[in-house]
Amino acid sequence: MSEKSNLKTNPGACPLAKKCGGCQLQNMTYERQLRWKQARCEILLKKYGKVRRIIGMDNPFHYRNKVQAAFGRTKSGKTVSGVYQSGSHRIVNVDDCMIQDEKANKIIEDIRNLLPKFRITVYDEYRRSGFLRHVLVKRGFSSGEIMVVIVGSDSYFPMKKKFTKALLELHPDITTVILSINPKETTLVLGDREEILYGSGHITDTLCGLEFSISAKSFYQINPVQTEKLYSLAVEYAGLNEKMTVLDAYCGIGTIGMVAAKTAGIVTGVELNPEAVKDAIANAKMNGMKNIHFYCADAGDFMEEAAKEGAKPDVVFMDPPRSGSSRKFIKSLLTAAPKKIIYISCNPETLARDLELICAGGYKAEKITPVDMFPHTNHIETVVSMVRV
Ligand code: SAH
Repeated sequence: MSEKSNLKTNPGACPLAKKCGGCQLQNMTYERQLRWKQARCEILLKKYGKVRRIIGMDNPFHYRNKVQAAFGRTKSGKTVSGVYQSGSHRIVNVDDCMIQDEKANKIIEDIRNLLPKFRITVYDEYRRSGFLRHVLVKRGFSSGEIMVVIVGSDSYFPMKKKFTKALLELHPDITTVILSINPKETTLVLGDREEILYGSGHITDTLCGLEFSISAKSFYQINPVQTEKLYSLAVEYAGLNEKMTVLDAYCGIGTIGMVAAKTAGIVTGVELNPEAVKDAIANAKMNGMKNIHFYCADAGDFMEEAAKEGAKPDVVFMDPPRSGSSRKFIKSLLTAAPKKIIYISCNPETLARDLELICAGGYKAEKITPVDMFPHTNHIETVVSMVRV
């Protein structure tokens, strides 16, 4: 191999890369991945302003705080736990994923090794028999709290007490264990019913100095180290003060809005998913925040209604899903005409499409900064601040 190509490729590349397919860029060194993401952003976004240097991770490994493993058996009868092989339903055994939390990797491996002792069978998708379908582990990186969710096909789990005890003996730092019952033929991991086997059924974690309660089903950013950098940057770009009114559109469990509410006057969050809104309300209450309110609605409908009523927020944060924002939202956003728009995007292509409309409507991009939230994968997160001209 020539010296030049040596610099481009990653000597520590993952041996499972081809089968798993989760880390599309893992054959590149981390520096090269960052350059690749920077270049993608520049191609798509430089028309709107200078793209600042991507904010990478100091340690781009084991950053995922949420780890999920599917359980199954190989043809030869060996129990495996890991990910579905890309494009198929065969499970590839994964014990040491380089992006997942190491502690979670170990818990999953230990659960697999405990199965025979407690005569726990693994689920067979084709025969629709057997018990254990998935294990989900969530760890609060700053609190140290750990949740383990055992996803079974049935509520009948005869050795559950003894199994939980054995698991806690191996990992005394686990703070809650939940049985999620999922008898359905579905690609969704978690079932509708839950039984708490140990602890409170949720964990808490701290992000940007605020506490968040995380349940088995609730959404929480998977890379907390970079999330803090992303949110801090978004709020810094907004230049908030206590006189300002803020809208947090596509707010999820209310994280960005709550960070903004520490310095802003009044914050309104809007989100489509009712479960996330419930979490957002509970989280605001837990942190004693009285200047933030949440609505469950389509962001476009909400914005249209607000614009009709003459609402004039000073700052609008928008963090839409990969598909980007809707025309309806952008149209009403331009009518409401906030002084600043902070767009947080997980897809630079839809971001470019939306920036085109927003800039044509009288805004100019002030700062464009990519933040690497998902090292080794091809996903790119960007924060853009726009001012009315
Ligand atoms: N800002 C949050 C969540 C961002 S993910 C965070 O940083 O954690 C995007 C969110 O947009 C999801 O919670 C999704 O449920 C929500 N969403 C998707 N379509 C929506 C729509 N049409 N109106 C409002 N919210 C929507």
